[in-house]
Amino acid sequence: MATGYVKCAGCGEEIKIKCMGKSSKDTERYCRWLESQGHLCADCEEKERAAENAAAAEANKAAGLLDLAGSEKQIAWAETIRQNLIQEIESDPMNGSDGYDVFVRLVKEKTQASWWIDHRDMTVKSLVREMADEIKAAMVEEAEGAQEEALLKPQGELESSLVAEIRLLSGELRVSLAEKNDKFRQVVKSIGFRWDWDHSCWYRPLGFQAGNPVDRAAETAHRLLEAGFIVRLYDEEARAKAISGEFEPEQRRWVVKSVGGKYDGWFRISWPREDDLYNAAQALPGSKYYSGDVYVPADAALEVADFAERYDFALSEGAKGLIEGHQAALSQGVVVDKIKKPKPSVSDDGIPKLSPEQSEVDDDLLDND
Ligand SMILES: [Zn+2]
Repeated sequence: MATGYVKCAGCGEEIKIKCMGKSSKDTERYCRWLESQGHLCADCEEKERAAENAAAAEANKAAGLLDLAGSEKQIAWAETIRQNLIQEIESDPMNGSDGYDVFVRLVKEKTQASWWIDHRDMTVKSLVREMADEIKAAMVEEAEGAQEEALLKPQGELESSLVAEIRLLSGELRVSLAEKNDKFRQVVKSIGFRWDWDHSCWYRPLGFQAGNPVDRAAETAHRLLEAGFIVRLYDEEARAKAISGEFEPEQRRWVVKSVGGKYDGWFRISWPREDDLYNAAQALPGSKYYSGDVYVPADAALEVADFAERYDFALSEGAKGLIEGHQAALSQGVVVDKIKKPKPSVSDDGIPKLSPEQSEVDDDLLDND
């Protein structure tokens, strides 16, 4: 056994190193190598570890992590392990995958110092595997919490014990109830839903005429609640509007430009069935009734504009275009505001002879200058 000496990189004290079964030359080489690595004496090592642990504890506290439980020494060590492991977990490529946020949350909630010490050598992958059941249970709990929060209950008597679920998708609103219910059917049909065989649910497209999609979801929920149905609606903003009733009601009276088909380029006038507007629409010049709507030729643009204003119809951009086009055409026509007085034909007796046409021209229209 050979003995060598290493200088502590911290305090400079000589540390005695004993090497079993090595020559003094090898021992000497080994000691120089230790020095090149910044070898510390036991005291300095202890101090350095304590400083590292204290810094980790401070960083963890600043990151909002909970206090650890355990002996003072365990806690000190666990803080460093915790800091490193969480850093590793958060920078793992799996971060962002389904349920990973739950995993991160669960790990951060571990407050037993011994848990961190026990798991100090684990890879992220093996940790996920070990915590699989815990993660799954937490995910189920989160989903249930979200469902509960999304539930709106009507006042008074329930029309059904089942929940009508409203789903706001892009360009479409869906609503379903897991039973046949006439009242439900009546309500959703009245606000524009149609049955979708493919998805076995009621749906309505959300085009420009539907206005703000969040308002449509809120209105649907509001109407169903009013009719005595329990409603589930995940969109937070829509839910708040359904409760307060502060949504823009749907504009359901529309004048649009018909594109394609029999009445291409005509106005198409539509309104909800319960509004009695058929006679008024039918009275527009040249109107045709076709498949539930009234069509009016573009020439009647001014009459259609008056009708829309009077009965509170909204105009689509296409319909506005038809009206503007008509107005422009009118202003560009030759304006007949100065009708020249024809030279009077003079009769033999010198008295001007008026033709019947001339006598019918209103004085205002005559050129008086
Ligand atoms: Zn030292």
